[in-house]
Amino acid sequence: MSKNQRRVYSTDQGKICPDCNQAQSLCQCAALKKKELPQTDGVVRVSRQTKGRKGKGVTLVTGIPLPELELKALAKRLRNQCGTGGTVKDGTVELQGDQCDFLLRELPKQGWVVKRSGG
Ligand SMILES: [Zn+2]
Repeated sequence: MSKNQRRVYSTDQGKICPDCNQAQSLCQCAALKKKELPQTDGVVRVSRQTKGRKGKGVTLVTGIPLPELELKALAKRLRNQCGTGGTVKDGTVELQGDQCDFLLRELPKQGWVVKRSGG
């Protein structure tokens, strides 16, 4: 068999995107994903913030590589599990009070690589 007989697969349309079924030359999925997903190193960081906060402050979770909707769903689950309030801002999950120990225990169970950052 000669190397010259190897053919590169191609069609007029090229590859079809499995997500939107458009030719990949027309597909916007990759661009959308890039835009939606925060740039992270794959490590989720948990930190406390008490400055300028009342009482026990808040616990911040940053670096979760999820689109906003999924991040909000995750934040909701975490709030329910902690029995506390919280919000999602600019890709960061904020939970009321000190939830560091809970998050360091819980997030790895969901498959995240978690580190404690700051104090
Ligand atoms: Zn697509």
